[in-house]
Amino acid sequence: MPQLNDSIRYLKGVGEQRAKCYEKLGVDTICSLLRFFPRAYTDFSEITPVMECVPGSVCCVRGKIFKKQGEQRIRKGLSLFKVYVTDGEGDLTITIFNNRFAFDALQMGREYCFRGRIQGNFLRKEMNSPEFIDPERVSPIRAVYHLTEGLSNNLISGHVKKALELWGDCLEDALPDTVRQKEGLCHQRFAVENIHFPQTKNALEVAKYRLVFEELLTLQLGLGLLKEQHREETGVLIQNPDVSEFEQALPFSLTDGQKQAIADGLKDFTSGVPMNRLVQGDVGSGKTMVACGLAFCMAKNGFQTAVMAPTEILALQHYRTFSGILGPMGISCTLLTGSMTVKQKRECKEQIADGQASVVIGTHALIQDTVSFAGLGLVVTDEQHRFGVNQRKKLAEKGERPHRLVMSATPIPRTLALMIYGDLDLSVIKEAPKGRQPIDTFLIDGKKRQRAYGFIRDHIVRGLQAYIVCPLIDEGESEAFSVTEYAEKLKGSVLSGVRTGVLHGKMKPVQKEKVMSQFQRGELDLLVSTTVVEVGVDVPNAVIMMIENAELFGLSQLHQLRGRVGRGTEKSYCILVSDYGNEQTRERLKIMTKSSDGFYISEQDLKQRGPGDFFGARQHGLPQLKIANMVEDMDTLRKTQRWAKRILMQDPALEFPEHAGLRREVEDLFEHGTQENG
Ligand code: ADP
Ligand code: MG
Repeated sequence: MPQLNDSIRYLKGVGEQRAKCYEKLGVDTICSLLRFFPRAYTDFSEITPVMECVPGSVCCVRGKIFKKQGEQRIRKGLSLFKVYVTDGEGDLTITIFNNRFAFDALQMGREYCFRGRIQGNFLRKEMNSPEFIDPERVSPIRAVYHLTEGLSNNLISGHVKKALELWGDCLEDALPDTVRQKEGLCHQRFAVENIHFPQTKNALEVAKYRLVFEELLTLQLGLGLLKEQHREETGVLIQNPDVSEFEQALPFSLTDGQKQAIADGLKDFTSGVPMNRLVQGDVGSGKTMVACGLAFCMAKNGFQTAVMAPTEILALQHYRTFSGILGPMGISCTLLTGSMTVKQKRECKEQIADGQASVVIGTHALIQDTVSFAGLGLVVTDEQHRFGVNQRKKLAEKGERPHRLVMSATPIPRTLALMIYGDLDLSVIKEAPKGRQPIDTFLIDGKKRQRAYGFIRDHIVRGLQAYIVCPLIDEGESEAFSVTEYAEKLKGSVLSGVRTGVLHGKMKPVQKEKVMSQFQRGELDLLVSTTVVEVGVDVPNAVIMMIENAELFGLSQLHQLRGRVGRGTEKSYCILVSDYGNEQTRERLKIMTKSSDGFYISEQDLKQRGPGDFFGARQHGLPQLKIANMVEDMDTLRKTQRWAKRILMQDPALEFPEHAGLRREVEDLFEHGTQENG
């Protein structure tokens, strides 16, 4: 007999073909099928009497079939079947379209639960093609799974049932008894059974709570272990943590937050333990300067710094910033990106290898195996959520346990930051540099578009610059098409004479870079772009950000986009264009006009959209959670944080026999669950 960890194709009824389908859902072993948790449930347990069903609402009715009326052909390809149901007080007419199978399954005189939208009126109630179950035979709460071609909900449900029957007893409970008892959590077996086939609503909740707890505890333990590992290592030791020369060379004075973040870093450099620090700060708070100051310190002490940016545009921009400030002080900076020629890359790598280059800035070309450093002391990753945990690790492996600095892209509430970046220490920059003016934000509809163009033109005439961002309509050709077409249309507007550049994700890196450089140098007045300008781009002379179809963006993303302006001393504006359909969208966008606080905005965003959309499917580089929700399960999260601390204090490497299960889970989550994202 196959084991829990064997391939799912050995499960009766699965086989090669369906195993391939399961693969698409991330299910490969029998065990992972049991942990393929439903995405939702259809509840047949709350029954509404027919008399009380309100037309237009979705109801579940329990009743007996008293009449069946066979096939009626309405026209070619459309036939319908009727079934008449009563719950003793009221009658319900059910129409089934094109589904003889369903019709035949329903037996005269038997009782079923039907769930669907009530049609008709108060006198004559109907339901079209409802879902139904036989309440005598199956549990009234039915799991709804993510599906893929070749696997229906019923099939999956059947396979899970079989797997539970055969292997349910082999499931080992990873939670130590003490934890389970103190927290009043159910056993593993009960949890897995009831998450798939809930006996009652309450049983489902109990099951879910236990699984959420287990998952979050595993996550916290994993992050805790990572943190512990670093603590045990010895880091690059800096003798002279003095950055006053750097500070004096700057054209502005650092904000208190920047100073504090740099001081935090310097303290880590002299501690003997590798730093693992996250710099959080709102858009435009000047996080780059923190990295720059720390890189300066490294260079002065004879160590190299690697700065990894998520895009070529950003890498180039950082290169200019770093070399502009550090270059005059005799610190050599170099750029390494994927689009450079083979020869350029080779020369660059030589400079890195023999230590001529003190600061190396690049995209993920930097983590290639052929890049080796003379003495890497600090690794900086910018806009970190684009990189996976593993990528961060890979770059760090290039040095003798270098210090690591991570700069976040999106400001997020502290509790959440601690959870996502639980393996990192945190420095928060609260205030923006002095002299920044608030960005005025307007919400307009399409009718005012021409006026907005006029407003943009007036600023361009004064030598300032602007962005217009169009959403990515879909992943196909249309991205290039939509911005190009948009720019084309502008020629018929008051913006016809302005020097306009187009930027979208489908362009080659060199092309993108060319346009971006032109814009940065002021050779273009207007940039029509998709969200490729979203993260990090810094052109202080740009003062207007106009966003088309603003309703299609998340609040945090809008805030990021808005952060592309307001970077200089000129008054800046953000214009959100939306012909929003409903009040809710309008309310959501209004938040942008009222607040400029990124932390607040991200909190609102999280509340409204949930973390899945907030981070994108796999942006934060954390293992993907199967069942816990970062926002809804915040209380459980705090509990598990405490437990993880307690457990790791007693058993820092999870070596006790009673922690073997947890250790296995951690390995599983962090080995198989982490997503890479370049
Ligand atoms: P972000 O935190 O969004 O990455 P950047 O590091 O790109 O912000 O900085 C935004 C802009 O602010 C840059 O043009 C930078 O030169 C400028 N800047 C940074 N620190 C200061 C400061 N202390 N005073 C004035 N301007 C600053
Ligand atoms: Mg930045």
